[in-house]
Amino acid sequence: MQSIDDIEVSGRRVLVRSDLNVPLDKSGAVDPRGDDPSTTPRKTELRITDDGRIRASLPVIKKLAGRGARVIVMAHLGRPKGEDFAERAAGGPSLRVVADRLSELLGKPVAFATDLVGQSATATVAGLADGDVALLENVRFEPAETSKEESERLRLAQDLAKLGDVYVGDGFGVVHRKQASVYDLPKLLPHAAGDLVTAEVAVLRRLTENPAHPYVVVLGGSKVSDKLGVIGNLLGLADRVLIGGGMVYTFLAALGHEVGTSLLEADHIESCKEILASAAERGVELVLPTDIVVAPRFAADAPPTVVAADAIPEGHMGLDIGPASRDLFASKLADAKTVFWNGPMGVFEFPAFAAGTRAVAEALTKVDGLTVVGGGDSAAAVRSFGLDESSFGHISTGGGASLEYLEGKTLPGLTALEA
Ligand code: ADP
Ligand code: MG
Repeated sequence: MQSIDDIEVSGRRVLVRSDLNVPLDKSGAVDPRGDDPSTTPRKTELRITDDGRIRASLPVIKKLAGRGARVIVMAHLGRPKGEDFAERAAGGPSLRVVADRLSELLGKPVAFATDLVGQSATATVAGLADGDVALLENVRFEPAETSKEESERLRLAQDLAKLGDVYVGDGFGVVHRKQASVYDLPKLLPHAAGDLVTAEVAVLRRLTENPAHPYVVVLGGSKVSDKLGVIGNLLGLADRVLIGGGMVYTFLAALGHEVGTSLLEADHIESCKEILASAAERGVELVLPTDIVVAPRFAADAPPTVVAADAIPEGHMGLDIGPASRDLFASKLADAKTVFWNGPMGVFEFPAFAAGTRAVAEALTKVDGLTVVGGGDSAAAVRSFGLDESSFGHISTGGGASLEYLEGKTLPGLTALEA
C-alpha cells in the first residue's frame, strides 16, 4: 500500500474517507431490538458521547492540510433510513455536529457541504484554498453508497471522483465494507492509505503472526449475527474465547436455557451448538457467564437482579454479566499474553449494567502482554470508565473490521488501496 507520504498533495484536492461514526446520545443506550433512535434523532438533540474516532482521524487530516492539500473528508454516521437522499437527509443524522467538533479539534473552520455530489459539495470544494478542510454530508444519505449493485455504487463513486484529484483511505472502521466511498472510489483516483489504517493493520498483524499464548479473545456487544459468524474462525487462533454481551443469550438458548426477553437470534441457535461442539473438539476453552444481571425492561432505571445464567426469569432480559462471571472472566484473562476484545459485556451506557464491561476493561489493564480493544462502543466504554488508554496495547477504531481481519478475510477497502 502506498502511504500518504509517497504522494504529492500540495495544491491538490484530496478526498479522504475517514471513520467519524461516533456514538450519539439522547438518553444513553439504544435497544438493539427497536428502531435505533441514534439514526432518527431530532437535530437539536444530537450530542457526541465519545469523540475518539474524530480524534483518531485528525493526524491525517492535519498532515494533509499542513502539506497544502485541499482536504475533503467523507464519512458516514449512523444508519440513515429512506428511499433517497432527500428522505434520508430529512431523517438524519447529519454530520454537521461532527463538522463542528472537527473544527474545534483542528482549531480552524471546517467547511460543511450539505450534500455529497450536489451543488453544495461542488461549491464547497470550489471554495477551498490550499490547506483548507471540508466535510461532506453523511455518505449514507446516498443509498448508492451501500448498494449491492456495483453499477449504482460506481455511478456515485464517479460523481465523488469529480470532486478530487487524489484519494486517501483512512477509515479503518469501514475497510471491511464494499461501499462506494470505501471500495469503488479509490479505483478511480490515484490513492494511498492513511496513517490510521496503516497503524491499525500493523497491530492486527501482530495478533495473527506468531502471537504469544495464552491468547484470549473476548466477544460481546449487540451485533449478534455479525459476531456469531466470526467465532468459528477465531477458534483457530485463540486458546480461550470469553463470551458476554448480547450474543450470550443465543448460546444460552443453544444450551437449552430460557432467556426471557433477552436479545436472541433464534436462526443462529444451531450455529451456536456447532461452535460449542467445535470448541470442545479443538480444545479451545469457550467461557460463558455463569450469572446474569437481568431487568424487566431496557432502561437506565430498570431494577437490576442477579440470576443464574440458566435461570433467567420470564419477562426479564439479560443486560450484563453477573458478579461471579466478572471474577471468572478476570481470572481467565489473568495469565493471558495476547488479548483481543470486541464488544461490551452489557449495556454499559446504563451505570447499573456497566460492571461486567468495566471488569473486563480493568482485567485487560493488568495483562502482561499485548492487549487490543476493537470496536467503537468498546473503545468508548474504556474511555467512559476513565481508564488510562496507555494501559492498553492498542485501542482500535474498528470492531467489525478488526474481527474480519483476524478471521483472515480480505478487506475490500484494503484491497482497493493495494491495487
Ligand atoms: P462495538 O462497537 O464495540 O463493536 P457493538 O456495536 O457490537 O460493539 O455493541 C455495542 C452495544 O452493545 C452497546 O451499545 C451495548 O449497550 C450493547 N449491548 C451489550 N450487551 C447487551 C445486551 N445484553 N443487550 C442489549 N444490548 C447490549
Ligand atoms: Mg458499535
